[in-house]
Amino acid sequence: MSQNLLILGGTTEASALARALADRGVRATLSYAGRVAAPRAQPVATRTGGFGGAEGLAAYLRVERISHLIDATHPFAARISANAVAAARIAGTPLVALVRPPWTPGPGDRWTSAPDVAAAAMALAGPPVRVFLALGRLHLAAFASQPQHHYLLRLVDPPEAPPLPNVTVIVARGPFNAAADTALLHAHAIERVVAKNAGGAGAQAKLEAARALGLPVMLIDRPRALVRAEVATVADVLGWLGHAQADRGV
Ligand code: NAP
Repeated sequence: MSQNLLILGGTTEASALARALADRGVRATLSYAGRVAAPRAQPVATRTGGFGGAEGLAAYLRVERISHLIDATHPFAARISANAVAAARIAGTPLVALVRPPWTPGPGDRWTSAPDVAAAAMALAGPPVRVFLALGRLHLAAFASQPQHHYLLRLVDPPEAPPLPNVTVIVARGPFNAAADTALLHAHAIERVVAKNAGGAGAQAKLEAARALGLPVMLIDRPRALVRAEVATVADVLGWLGHAQADRGV
């Protein structure tokens, strides 16, 4: 059977994989959840919206005759990743996850960790400070319990209403760079950074900025690991698919 891939996307890595596959003439569809109003243009076919749980995804894999499933979703997208494991088993479709290694602290980093978003919010109890809250809009509600702080938010789409009482919202889409993030944190007199331990290069700039400015960072741990094949790079996915020979230049 010729290859016909489904990439679960919504990340920089998924877009990079789509580009590498398109360059090699591999048939692939990139799937978006539909959270972002205008996702970037892609060099492969795209589809948008949930599948209807693991069963729905398994049905899609069968109906669309998907030969390989690649989970390139964000490390914190726990539900779709669990669904992918279950659906691949139901449909008998080979699955690999493209997972960015988590960030680890280096010299000069002042990091603490929190097990989840709720714990990160509780850890902010105390006098008011200026916080760069580097989380997506779906995770902001937990911080309503700490309204004393001023929050700097960076969101992909403009919010319909202010998500927290005391906020500055910047609308921007990564990847970001360390010099610009350092200037941003400095301009907003940020004193603390709260982020998910997403890993990856495009979102790392805020950590480099925090290091440059000597700011404490609270990183939220990833959800529990799944039992599945995992690789760390686009080149590894190409190898898994048997396209490693054509991999020069990726
Ligand atoms: P989630 O909680 O794991 O998934 C919730 C539901 O959304 C899934 O059950 C599925 O619906 C649907 N879904 C999620 N990703 C999908 C995809 N790529 N294609 C089709 N349906 C998808 O996911 P999430 O954390 O809300 O993330 C949603 C999207 O945003 C993902 O594509 C992820 O890569 C991206 N993203 C997430 C984060 C984050 O911090 N969580 C950050 C950056 C980007 P059904 O059950 O109906 O199939």
